Amino acid sequence: MAEQQTAAALADQLTGFLKAFKDRDGNYKYFDRINNMMATNALSLVVDYIDLDSFDPMLAKEITHKPDEYLDSFNQAVLSVLQEIHPDYEQEIRDKIRVRIGNYTVQKGLREINAELIDKLVGVSGMVVRSSEVKPLAKKIGYRCANCGTITGAELKGLVLKRPAKCPACSEKELEMDAESSVFIDFQLVRLQELPEDLPAGQLPHYVEVTVMGDLVDQCRPGDRIMLTGVIRIEQEQLAPQARTSLFRLRMEGNNIEYLGGRAGNKDTRSTDRIMISAEDERQIRTIAAKPDAYEKLIASFAPHIYGHSEIKEAILLLIVGSVTKKLQDGSTRRGDINVLLVGDPGVAKSELLKFAAKIAPRGLYTSGRGSTAAGLTAAVIRDKSGIMMLEAGAVVLGDLGLVAIDEFDKLKPEDRSALHEVMEQQTCSVAKGGIVATLNARTSILSAANPMYGKYDPYKNITENVNLPVPLLTRFDLIFIVRDMPEKEKDNLIASHILEIHKDIEHAAKPAIEIDLFSKYLAYAKHGEPALTEEAVNLIRDYYMNMRKVESEGMITVTPRQLEGLVRLATARARLLLKDRVEADDASRAIFLVEQMLRTAGVDVNTGRMDVGVLYGKPQSETSKSKTFMDVFKGLSGNDNNDVEERALVDELAKTGKFADENDARKYFEKAKREGQIYERRPGFWSKA
Ligand code: ADP
Ligand code: MG
Repeated sequence: MAEQQTAAALADQLTGFLKAFKDRDGNYKYFDRINNMMATNALSLVVDYIDLDSFDPMLAKEITHKPDEYLDSFNQAVLSVLQEIHPDYEQEIRDKIRVRIGNYTVQKGLREINAELIDKLVGVSGMVVRSSEVKPLAKKIGYRCANCGTITGAELKGLVLKRPAKCPACSEKELEMDAESSVFIDFQLVRLQELPEDLPAGQLPHYVEVTVMGDLVDQCRPGDRIMLTGVIRIEQEQLAPQARTSLFRLRMEGNNIEYLGGRAGNKDTRSTDRIMISAEDERQIRTIAAKPDAYEKLIASFAPHIYGHSEIKEAILLLIVGSVTKKLQDGSTRRGDINVLLVGDPGVAKSELLKFAAKIAPRGLYTSGRGSTAAGLTAAVIRDKSGIMMLEAGAVVLGDLGLVAIDEFDKLKPEDRSALHEVMEQQTCSVAKGGIVATLNARTSILSAANPMYGKYDPYKNITENVNLPVPLLTRFDLIFIVRDMPEKEKDNLIASHILEIHKDIEHAAKPAIEIDLFSKYLAYAKHGEPALTEEAVNLIRDYYMNMRKVESEGMITVTPRQLEGLVRLATARARLLLKDRVEADDASRAIFLVEQMLRTAGVDVNTGRMDVGVLYGKPQSETSKSKTFMDVFKGLSGNDNNDVEERALVDELAKTGKFADENDARKYFEKAKREGQIYERRPGFWSKA
C-alpha cells in the first residue's frame, strides 16, 4: 500500500515536471511533445536528463539508482498528461508507452560494467557488432483453464515468464495459452562491443548483450556506434538445459539509443567519430595547415620510425582523409574512398605501415588475411544461444566511414576475396543467409599489403604473375606500390642507422614533427572538408587523361576511366589533407604524379617494356596479341578441313612468327592454351581445336 502511495506521489512529481518545464525559449517542451504524440503515432517520449537535472537535481539523481520505479512512474506521468489532452490516444497506447532518457550523463565504460551495477541505469558507448531478427516477446500471457475457463495472467520478469502451475479457481493442471489476453512486444537482441579506440592495447574487447523492445527495435545496425542508456540485469547462464550453474551473465535492457556524435538520437545527425576536437585543437590544426611546409611535415609525421617510403606514406595519408562521396541525381553514388595496395618483398615494413595507419586513422581497423574469414571480413549470420538468428558484422562493416587495413592480402581465401569485390566498388556488403537478407554500409577505405608468390618480387614478370590476386580486385585499387628490397649501400646504411637509432634511444629518436594525438585529430578534422574542383585542376586531369589515351598503339591501353576517377579522388584528398576549400592545380599534378608512378611500375608490361593497364586486368596487349597469333597459326595448319595439328610443327611455326620471344616462350604459350582448354589432344602428339 505504502509502495503504491510513493509510486503515485512520484508520478505526480514527474507530471509536474512534464507540465511545468520550459526550455530556454520559454516553450513548454515536454507538454508540447506529448501534445504531438497522437499526430506522429509516437509510443515513446525522450526526456533529456539535463532538463530533469536542472529542474530538480534530487529527482534526477534518484533515477540512476531506482530506474524501474522511476521509469514506471514516468510512463504513468506521461499517460496522465496525455489523458487530459488526448484521452482516446491515451487508451490506445496505455500498455506501450515508454519514457526514454536521453543525454544521460552517468556514463560507464563497457569494461566497468559489473555486478555492482545490477538494476542501475547506466549509459555506455560501444559499437553494435551483432543484431538479431525481430521476434515477438510475450510481456503477459493469459492462461485459460481447460476445466473452468478462468484466465490467469502471467507477467514477464526479466526474460522469463512463469507459467502458473495450476488454475487458482479449480486447481486444474491443464492450462492453455489464450492469445487474446496476451500482450506481445517486438523484441531484438543486440551485442555492443567496446570501441576499438577504448580498447587497451593487446586486450580482448569486452561486450555486453542488450535487449531492445518496442520502437527501439531496428534502431541500430551492426557497425553503428551508439550511446546506449539502459538498465543492467543479471541472468543465469544456461549451459545445458536444466543444468543449475552459479555462473551468471549481465545483460542490458535498452532504454534509449543515441548515435555517437549527434546526440539528438536520429540517424541523420550522427557523426563518424567520437574524437572531440576542442577549439584549442582546431587552432593548432589550422596553424599546422597554414605553414608552407605543411604537406611535407604531415608525411614526415606518419610512422616516423620507418625510414623512407615517403610516397607510400603520402598515399596512405590521402587514403585516410579520402575524397568526397558524390550522390548522383539517380540515387547512385560515386565512391569517394581511396584504396591502396602495397606489393613487395618481405621485411620492407609493409605491415608496420599498415598497423600505424590503422592506429592513427579515425575508425581504423587492422586485420590479416591469414586469419580472416569471409564472415570476419564482411558479415555473417549466426544462431545465438537463445535460438535467435543474429547478423554479425565483420571488419569492413565495422570500419564503415573509416579504414580497414588488410595485411597478407594474398593469403585471403577465394570466397573472402570475392566478398571484397562488392565492398571495394559498391561500398556495401550484402548478406543473404539463414533468412536474413540485408545490405550493410561498408564505406571503407581498404589499405592492403601482399607478398609475392615466390618469396621475392620478380621484376621480369608482370604483377599478376607475381602476386596471387584475382585480377578484377586489382583494378579496384587507386594506387599500387611495388616495394622491392634491393641492396643499395647508401640507402641500407641510412635504414640501419635509423633502426639502430630507435633501439639506442627510444625517447629521443624519431620524434614526429606533429605529436600523434594531434595528428589523429588533424586527420579526423580534415575528413570533414568538401573542397570543390577548380577549372585548372579539371583541365590538368583532362589533358593528362587525353594524352595518355592518345599513345594507344596496337590496341594497347595506358589509362582507363577507373584511373580518371582515381585522379579526381586523389587530388580531392590532397586538398582535404591541406584543409583547402578548393582542389587546385598543384593537387591535380600531385595526383597525376602518383598515378603515373603506379602506371610506370605496376602498369608496365614487362614483355614489351611499355605501359599497358592491361597487365592490371591480367591481359596485357602482348598476351592478347599472342593469343590471336596462336589461333591464326593453328587455323593455318589445320586448314579448311580442320585436320589435327602436330605439336612439333605448331611450336616451330609459332616461334617463326616473331610474336614470341623464342621457342621456349612459344611452347609456354602452347602449354597455356592446353591448360585453358582451347585445344585438346585427339591422338598422341596431335591436337585439335576445342
Ligand atoms: P613486411 O610486412 O613488409 O614483411 P614488416 O613490416 O614486418 O615487413 O617489417 C619488418 C621489420 O623491419 C620491422 O621491424 C620494421 O620496423 C623493419 N623495417 C623494414 N624496413 C624499414 C625501414 N625502411 N625503416 C625502419 N624499419 C624498417
Ligand atoms: Mg608483413
